[in-house]
Amino acid sequence: MQNKLSIEDLDLAGERVLVRVDFNVPLTDKKVRDDTRIKAALPTIKYLTAHGAKVILASHLGRPGGKHCEDLKMDPVAKSLSKLLEKPVEKLDSITGDEVIQAVKKMKEGDILLLENLRFVNGEEENDPHFAQQLAELADLYVNDAFGTAHRAHASTVGVASHIPAVAGLLMKKEIEILSACLDNPKRPMTVILGGAKVSDKINVIKRFLSLADNLLIGGGMANTFLVASGYDMGSSFYEENQVDTARELIAAAGKSNCTIYLPQDLVVTEELKAGSIVETVSLQNLEKRWKAADIGPETARIFGSVIAQSALVVWNGPLGVFEIAPFNAGTEAVAKAIAAAQAYSVIGGGDLVAALESLNLSGKMSFISTGGGATLEFWEGSILPGIAALKDRP
Ligand code: ADP
Ligand code: MG
Repeated sequence: MQNKLSIEDLDLAGERVLVRVDFNVPLTDKKVRDDTRIKAALPTIKYLTAHGAKVILASHLGRPGGKHCEDLKMDPVAKSLSKLLEKPVEKLDSITGDEVIQAVKKMKEGDILLLENLRFVNGEEENDPHFAQQLAELADLYVNDAFGTAHRAHASTVGVASHIPAVAGLLMKKEIEILSACLDNPKRPMTVILGGAKVSDKINVIKRFLSLADNLLIGGGMANTFLVASGYDMGSSFYEENQVDTARELIAAAGKSNCTIYLPQDLVVTEELKAGSIVETVSLQNLEKRWKAADIGPETARIFGSVIAQSALVVWNGPLGVFEIAPFNAGTEAVAKAIAAAQAYSVIGGGDLVAALESLNLSGKMSFISTGGGATLEFWEGSILPGIAALKDRP
């Protein structure tokens, strides 16, 4: 689908390479709390240094809003990266200007430099042409490995690519390949699992997969809206009143395509969505006024599991319950275990689902976990992500 040139197609020896990475990691007391995103960029960085490039890394971190912010400097990231690479990483306090130009001049093949937080200047998010040009002047080549920011048209994701040759890094390449394989000629039977809070957040993703998948398993808060559309009284559960008609149309559309929709048959309910409140498992028909649906029930998890067991490809976005509060993570856990036990290739996307699987210690059992939250959803909707569009096509 999106056949882009990557670093593997280029001669890199001696080249100054500006790499947009996604080092937007969580910090605690100026230390990296979770280095998953840094680890995800290592293959590209190692490939570039091994092939003799001079590697200039740039990322945003947090939301400094266009001004310098002491707590969001890249120093902790440089430290963490250097440790992971077992190699020095020179961290600069500027993004452009004389300090950077001089430092780049001194670089030797295989050296690594990390620029300061890109969002310390307004020009980044505004995609200011002058800022983009200043970034581009630092390098001979531009590599985008920040899939998680590819849905944003910023100076470091789009602007810079109009000045120097722009290609994909290895993480970007892998994300494009695997997420495309969920859309173009997917392995069958293909089962898509959708959860999370709202139908309205994901309407285009639901539509896309309805016309593509063999099975669509729906859980989470989103399922409540579909259940109301199917005529069930959902008691005090969260649902979206203004999406009920849409949900009804989607169910009708599934009937016309070859997609079978599975909605929850039983639910884990509570009076209050907080730890320690009373929890019961009820069938759909027995949902009293006082109950809020907080998770799919065990019978639903079993049915979902049997569909997964017969699938060749499983694509999953969104947790199936209010996973932040145990025991409402049990449905997500049961379904993740069913995926782990199945033959199917599994592709996982969505910030909250990834966090849920991580907290359950099950993320390692999935075939591929996308590093994009919003970017992954936009990709699956069929949007052309500006950060990908800016890269050179394979001839
Ligand atoms: P993702 O980030 O994986 O795409 P979303 O952001 O769409 O997922 O949704 C995640 C949120 O959905 C979580 O905060 C979770 O608590 C909420 N959620 C899941 N099931 C329910 C439910 N039954 N009722 C209310 N909220 C729910
Ligand atoms: Mg989310």
